[in-house]
Amino acid sequence: MQSTLAIIKPEILKKGLSGKIISIIEEHGFRISAMKMVHLTKDQAGRFYHVHRGKFFFEELTQYMSSGPIIVMVLSGDNVIERWRSLMGATDPSKAKEGTIRKLYGTDIQRNAVHGSDAPETAAFEISFFFSKMEIENGS
Ligand code: ATP
Ligand code: MG
Repeated sequence: MQSTLAIIKPEILKKGLSGKIISIIEEHGFRISAMKMVHLTKDQAGRFYHVHRGKFFFEELTQYMSSGPIIVMVLSGDNVIERWRSLMGATDPSKAKEGTIRKLYGTDIQRNAVHGSDAPETAAFEISFFFSKMEIENGS
């Protein structure tokens, strides 16, 4: 069993579309093991996206991710990291496949609706960034 961190990004909450994304997640049979809404500070967004520090889009990315509340979730299941990234679609919504969340709800490469961890190590860091053990369903 694997877990991943999913985020519904600020633009989606501003548009009142978070329920649509949650429905898609449920319709695809993902198990939501934890979920909450948070509003990051710019500094916290920078710590979450530390791997992108120094890149040209870091400043804008952290500004955007702290511009309003987000919904963070732990999704669990076999191969969930890859399955969730595949449902999200390509980083740039204009290049994302039909039927993916970024194709349906993404605006541009920055405001691309959702986030997903890209490997087990990043998933472990990202889940513990937002959730304590007590907040995550234990699967029993
Ligand atoms: P995420 O990490 O959010 O799941 P990803 O793994 O598809 O997305 P990354 O390369 O990790 O993409 O980039 C992290 C985030 O930084 C992207 O989701 C996007 O919001 C932003 N980003 C990435 N590349 C660019 C870019 N060229 N210009 C502006 N923003 C970008
Ligand atoms: Mg990434």
